[in-house]
Amino acid sequence: MSDYKVKKSDAQWKEQLDPMQFQVARQAATEQPFSGKYWDHWDDGKYNCIGCGTPLFTSSTKFDAGCGWPSYSESINSEVIERITDRSHGMTRVEVRCKNCGSHLGHVFPDGPEPTGERFCINSAAIDFAPPK
Ligand SMILES: [Zn+2]
Repeated sequence: MSDYKVKKSDAQWKEQLDPMQFQVARQAATEQPFSGKYWDHWDDGKYNCIGCGTPLFTSSTKFDAGCGWPSYSESINSEVIERITDRSHGMTRVEVRCKNCGSHLGHVFPDGPEPTGERFCINSAAIDFAPPK
């Protein structure tokens, strides 16, 4: 396990997050496709970690992957994201977490658009949109 800067107990997380956010960010659940608030959200701005507020993605790299989850071709920078091999559900996938607080965000797949070729498939419940100041 990584040593995250932000450490809270489950009780503290439950106080901060709504039930869906807690399940996704802290228990690695996946929201239903086309159910979250950002899969079809295209305003300019940043998407911050629901757990600690770290900016993780920007609208400029968001694209419509047709999968029902917010999708990004890259993160704001490589420092904010932790990648972990996930062998659950009989698949080998790469889980992505917030490096600062360990919140589960979603997965990254190697089938995204150029130039990165990556697709960050992120749960709306794990992020919080912030328009430009
Ligand atoms: Zn975080």
